[in-house]
Amino acid sequence: MKTIRCLTILALVIFAGCDRPASQAVHPIADLLLVNADVVTVDPDVPDTEAVAIKGEHILAVGTSEDLSKHIGDETEVIDLDGQMVIPGFIEGHGHYTSFGGSLLILDFRYAKSFAEIVSMVADAAAETPAGEWIVGRGWHQDKWETKEEVLVEGLPIHDSLSEATPDHPVMLIHTSGHAVFVNERAMNLVEIDGSTTPPPGGEIVTDENGRATGMMREAAQDAFRVAYSGHQGRRPAGVAEAELRRMITLAGEESLRHGITSFQDLGTTFAEVDLIRTMADEGNLPVRLFMAFEEQAADMEGRLGDYRMVGYGNNFLTVRTIGEKVLDGALGTHGGWLLAPYADMPESYGLNVVSVEEIEKSAELAMKYDYQMAIQAIGDRAYRELLDIYEAEFEKHPDKTDLRWRIEHAQVIHPDDVARTVELRVIPAVQGIFACSDGPWVVDRLGEERTRERGYIFNTLAEAGLVPTNGTDPPVDEISPIGSFHCSVTRELPDGTLFQPQEAYSRELALYSYTMGNAIAAFEEDIKGSITPGKLADLAVLSQNLLTVSDDDLMDTEVTMTILGGKIRYRNGTILRD
Ligand SMILES: [Zn+2]
Repeated sequence: MKTIRCLTILALVIFAGCDRPASQAVHPIADLLLVNADVVTVDPDVPDTEAVAIKGEHILAVGTSEDLSKHIGDETEVIDLDGQMVIPGFIEGHGHYTSFGGSLLILDFRYAKSFAEIVSMVADAAAETPAGEWIVGRGWHQDKWETKEEVLVEGLPIHDSLSEATPDHPVMLIHTSGHAVFVNERAMNLVEIDGSTTPPPGGEIVTDENGRATGMMREAAQDAFRVAYSGHQGRRPAGVAEAELRRMITLAGEESLRHGITSFQDLGTTFAEVDLIRTMADEGNLPVRLFMAFEEQAADMEGRLGDYRMVGYGNNFLTVRTIGEKVLDGALGTHGGWLLAPYADMPESYGLNVVSVEEIEKSAELAMKYDYQMAIQAIGDRAYRELLDIYEAEFEKHPDKTDLRWRIEHAQVIHPDDVARTVELRVIPAVQGIFACSDGPWVVDRLGEERTRERGYIFNTLAEAGLVPTNGTDPPVDEISPIGSFHCSVTRELPDGTLFQPQEAYSRELALYSYTMGNAIAAFEEDIKGSITPGKLADLAVLSQNLLTVSDDDLMDTEVTMTILGGKIRYRNGTILRD
C-alpha cells in the first residue's frame, strides 16, 4: 500500500522525495510565479487562466492566482502582471540566424525610399571605410522606392551613380529577398564580370540595350560577388572572423528575445557554423534555442551527417536534424520563383530552377539514410510540384519510415491539385504570414489576378486541409516581428490599407497556434515546446495586451514586455538580462 501511494505521488510530483510530508510533496515550491495575468496556454487540455508557476527550467503548474499561491516559498519570485497576456514563447519558424546577426552589423536599406538615398548611405559609409574594403548592405526592394530613376532596366536603375560615389570600394547591395545583389563597377572589375560574361547556370547578369551590365545580378550570378566578399573577409587576421561570428550569434539572439522569440529555426547553416554554435552551447552562451538545418552540397554531407545529428543538445539549446534550405527556385519578387506557367509581367519567363533536381534528390536520399528531415525552398508552383515528386519518390522507397514531417519552405504559389497531395504525403508547407503583406503589393503583377486568387499565399486553405500551420518572418529577409506577422496573418492588410487575399487570413487562435505549437510540430518539438503545459520548458512571452481580443487596428501596438527562457527572465522592458 505504501509503495503504491509513494509511486502515485512520484508520478505527480517528480521533484519531491517519497518520505517528505504529503503537503510538501504535493505543493513543490516555485522559483518564479506569474500571477494576475491573462494566460493563453495553446493547449486544449489546459484551460486559459491567470497564473503560471515555474520551477527550474520547466513549467510546474498553471491555474488561478489563488490556486498557485500554494507554490510560494521564501525564495519564490512573484510577479504581478496586472492583466498582461502570457503566451508560449514565439518560435521563429524560418530564418537565417547568423546572416540575421550579420544584418545587424551592416547597412540596412529596408526603409530606403529611393535608389539615390541608398547611394548616399553607401557614400557616407565609404567615407569612413579604408579604400579597398567592401561595403555591404541589404534589405532594398525597388517596389518600396517612391522616386524612380530616369533610366530603368527591368524596373531597376543602372549602377553609374553608385559607381561614381564609390570609386575606391567594392560595393554589394543585397536584395531584400537575398536572391539578387546590386553591385558597383569596382566590384565588377574585381571579380571580372561585365555585360559580355556568360552567366553561370541558374543566374542572370542584367544588361541594358547596349549589352552593358547594369549592376543587377540575379540568383547564381551573385555568387561570384559573395565569394569575393567572404574571401576578403576570410583573409582578415585569425580570430577576427570567429569573434565576428560570435558577435552575430549573440546579436541575433538578443534581437529575438526582444521580440518574445525563445526558439529560432535556421534554414541554411554550414558544418563550420555548427561547430562554433556547438561550442557556444557547451559554454552556455547561446542566447536562444536553435534548430539548424544544413545547406551544404550532398557530396559534402555524405559521411558527415551522422556525426552532426543532435537533438536537444546542450540542455535543449541546439538541435541539428534537418537538411535545408537548398533552393529549388528563386524569389517571386525578382522573377526567380519557378512557375508552371509564365510570369504575367515577363511572359518569356517561367522563373528559375536554381539548385538542380538531381542535387535535391541526392540530399533526400541522405536525409533518409541519416534520419534527417528535409526542408527545401519552393516558392513557385512548379518548384512546389517538383519537390513533392522528389519527396514522394523517396517515401515510396521507404514505406517503413513514417512521421518524417518533410517540409517545403515558403510555399507561396501552390496549384490546387497539390494541396491534397501535400496532405496525403504528410508534408509540411512552412509558410511565413508576413510575406502575404510584404509581397502583396506586387504579387498580382507577377501572377495575374486569377492565378493569384487560386494559388497565391493560400495559407488558410492549407490549414483547413489539415496541414500544420506555421509562421515566421524569414529574418533578415523580412523584419523579425512575430507581432507584424501575426497582424498580417489575421488581417492580410497591406501598408496602403487594401487587403491581399483576405479569404486566406488565419483566425487569431490559428495565428497564435502557428507561431507556437505549429512551428514546434514542424521541428518535432511539440513534447517540450509550443504550449504552456506543466512539464514543458518554461519558455514564455509576456505581451502588453491580448492578441486574441484587441482590435485589428490596435494589434500592432502590442509590446513584448518580458521574455522568459528556460525559467529565467532574459528580457524585460527594453533590457536584455544575463546571469
Ligand atoms: Zn529563407
